[in-house]
Amino acid sequence: MAMGKIIDGKEIAKQLRLQLREEVQSLTAEHGVTPGLAVIVVGENPASHLYVRMKKQACADAGIVSFSHELPQETTEEALLSLIQTLNEHPAVHGILVQMPLPAHIRSQRILEAISPDKDADGFHPRNVGLLAVGAPLFRPCTPWGCMELLHLSGVKPAGQNAVVLGRSNIVGKPVALMLLAEHATVTLCHSQTRALPEIVRQADILISAMGQAELVRGDWLKPGVVVIDVGMNHRASDGKLCGDVAFQEALPKVSAITPVPGGVGPMTITMLLKNTVFSASRFIA
Ligand code: NDP
Repeated sequence: MAMGKIIDGKEIAKQLRLQLREEVQSLTAEHGVTPGLAVIVVGENPASHLYVRMKKQACADAGIVSFSHELPQETTEEALLSLIQTLNEHPAVHGILVQMPLPAHIRSQRILEAISPDKDADGFHPRNVGLLAVGAPLFRPCTPWGCMELLHLSGVKPAGQNAVVLGRSNIVGKPVALMLLAEHATVTLCHSQTRALPEIVRQADILISAMGQAELVRGDWLKPGVVVIDVGMNHRASDGKLCGDVAFQEALPKVSAITPVPGGVGPMTITMLLKNTVFSASRFIA
């Protein structure tokens, strides 16, 4: 049986980051503006600190300046709001990112709303969510935008296709459904209360899975020729290895293309964060 194409997110992300580095160089050379990203992390969550280190390294590689704010667990909501206000007004900062999750005593939504919508590198401010919903996006959330870029760069045109999205979170499922809709796909958005999931998935020409359920989607759920973007990052119960929401080996002979986990969507998320930061800096000179 013919094998599907593996979409190499790592290589695509590498190429995009090289392009971004050139854009940064010309912004600096021609306009004297170097894009700057402020990254705030509160508390000691090791995963959050790992993500922040990865983001800072990616900024450095692209020539973007990163401003790091590592705050103690007991930081108050008011202190965090005050820091965000300072960064909102700081001329060298073009993007602001607050690493989630925040400690329980801080209201995340209040923090996301305090970030200037013009420096919203994560695309989570309600204004940017609204702009995406009305089809006039400014800053797009990074993971769903990365999924769309993988489709585009793999030559997939969503118009007229049946797209099934598994998961309705604010950071992945819901925005990726809006992005697919904006590109004229017919979108079905599924969640934990969706009935007859395998039957719905079998209708998909494009499947985007963001459930966080290890290998729930089996090979026999897939229509031959489907394109699969697997956002899930899970640990397989049998051997503890990282895996997606889709049983990759079962899927491979059925799909026309599929992202692996790891090495698919993951590297795209930080790339799109860099892209948002460079875009923001370019707006400041326009
Ligand atoms: P959430 O837990 O916020 O959302 C999961 C969604 O999946 C919910 O809408 C939930 O439904 C739905 N869901 C859960 N179980 C089922 C099921 N059995 N059948 C149908 N739907 C189900 O997760 P996130 O959106 O934050 O992340 C999803 C996955 O993507 C995770 O594995 C995460 O690690 C990964 N991820 C990867 C990123 C990357 O850069 N590669 C970035 C962000 C996330 P309901 O709403 O009804 O509860």
